[in-house]
Amino acid sequence: MLAEPPTTPYDLRFSIAGIPVRVHPLFWLVALFLGLGPREDPKLAIIWVGVVFVSVLVHELGHALTARSFGYHPRITLHGFGGLASYEPTRYDPARQITITIAGPLAGFLFAAVIVGVLMLLGYELHFFGRRLTRGEPIPNLYAYVLVHDLLLVNIFWGVINLFPVLPLDGGQIARDILLRFHPRQAIPTAYQLSMITAAALAIFSFVRLGSFFMSLFFGYLAYASFVTWQSYQRSSFRGR
Ligand SMILES: [Zn+2]
Repeated sequence: MLAEPPTTPYDLRFSIAGIPVRVHPLFWLVALFLGLGPREDPKLAIIWVGVVFVSVLVHELGHALTARSFGYHPRITLHGFGGLASYEPTRYDPARQITITIAGPLAGFLFAAVIVGVLMLLGYELHFFGRRLTRGEPIPNLYAYVLVHDLLLVNIFWGVINLFPVLPLDGGQIARDILLRFHPRQAIPTAYQLSMITAAALAIFSFVRLGSFFMSLFFGYLAYASFVTWQSYQRSSFRGR
């Protein structure tokens, strides 16, 4: 899941702040699929795909710009499972790694804070998961309203989900790197064990409490993948004895 997909003739390539970006065609298809359902209006589907594109790019830029500040040469790939900022680290340093990982979700939260700040200055009212964020006039245009709420949903809600200690999400990588710092011998199998338990709990929670079959399937798959990897570590440590 963390590997870069092979290049295709339909890749979109550009660079931003000197960082090369490649967008695999599956990125657009999966983003569109995630937005289908209640969006019969094609304009709303286009807004959704645009929001996913900009938000994933902001997130990956958080990772990539931080990696560059450490002297690495990052590149960004947007693919069917989200995004990836890759670089060749000169040496493994858990503290640096954790800083680079946390910069992705942080960039998304900052982006959301800027949006909330701008709407507050313009005097518009904003709601997020039933809570009022700012007071004022309701946003008059339906498309502007959807744009703002989609941006907040992706940057805040997905940002938080991404911080749970589930591999290969950012939270799982942070948990693994913290464990590597303090318990290097058992860190990797423990990180997968934690990932398996957390993902299984999130799969049940998203089905029972959020009613989201898609999220439940996503975490169910990650729980299974973590279980398989954890098992392979158990077997290899048994053989090593
Ligand atoms: Zn990330």
